[in-house]
Amino acid sequence: MPPAISTKNCSLNILCIFSCFRCPVQLNNVALQPARKEGEKDVMFTHQSKWSCLTSLDYPYNPTITATIQDQTVTQVLQMDMEYQRVNITAKCIQLESEGHNILQDGTFLEKTTYTIADTTGVVELTVWGPQHNMNIDSWFYMTNLSRVFQGKKFLSTTKDITFSTIACTDTTHPIEVTTSEHITANIIGAKVNITYICPLKHQIKDMALSCSRVLCNNCDIFYKSDVIILHTHAKLTIQTTDNIKTLNIENKVIRSVVQISKTATTDTIMDSLLDLPRMQITIHNNSITHLAYPEPSHPETTPLITFSPLAQSTSLSTSGDSEELDLFMADGPTDIQPKSDTPSA
Ligand SMILES: [Zn+2]
Repeated sequence: MPPAISTKNCSLNILCIFSCFRCPVQLNNVALQPARKEGEKDVMFTHQSKWSCLTSLDYPYNPTITATIQDQTVTQVLQMDMEYQRVNITAKCIQLESEGHNILQDGTFLEKTTYTIADTTGVVELTVWGPQHNMNIDSWFYMTNLSRVFQGKKFLSTTKDITFSTIACTDTTHPIEVTTSEHITANIIGAKVNITYICPLKHQIKDMALSCSRVLCNNCDIFYKSDVIILHTHAKLTIQTTDNIKTLNIENKVIRSVVQISKTATTDTIMDSLLDLPRMQITIHNNSITHLAYPEPSHPETTPLITFSPLAQSTSLSTSGDSEELDLFMADGPTDIQPKSDTPSA
């Protein structure tokens, strides 16, 4: 049942169903914008909006509408039409799809990892923001406060309220639709390297002076020893096979699995190292290089420079879609109808 909407001042009388209390409230000076679902509107509570408590609603509230976050199967998640709805799910982690990062509006660096997960009913992709919660491949998890996202396809994304717990599950059946990786041997003929410097509290350092012994993080308002600043790199590599040339993304961990990167490395020195690599064994997944390895040594005494990273990684460079997911990750409350930018702290 629709809430009362006055189009003059654009205010809403609604029942506030945040987690711990139920109170009729009036939202004033909100904006309405077309929702992703055709014919519907999203309510935008902006920095100019206000809310106040009411003693009663001017329409009968339907108590069957609930904000309780429900346990759902993967198929239920894929069948429902309500975007940004939070769900709990029990699923098995099938495959690491990609690993990358993004920078929040406040400059905080955030890891982004994408997995394929499945239960006995279906398969869906899960984006994990921040630490990976020990998401081991082939383990079963009970995860709460995931959010459903539609961006060309339906997938799940973690929110800041996410909880992960490993569970024992004896049912090993699931409809696996694991995407396959491409394994090739190719020469690296081009590179464009980016470096991000990060403070110990995961803020991006904008002006990193390599020659200074200390560096200011504007977010922390603290000078850190240059030693503790983290260098995170990602790149685009152009590779040439016998019949093809393509440009792919590659992320920090995969680069570091074959190239030594010192604290004072620059984009130039990293690019030189990448372009100096011999013809390499390359694993490609979703337009990203997830594994990079030296060719099998032809002489027993020839050893690789560095041991290889066991986990495949890849990058996802910033996109506008990412920023919407990030807003979602940062959102408060059980439902995530909120501005895509300029998020109010109220
Ligand atoms: Zn900082």
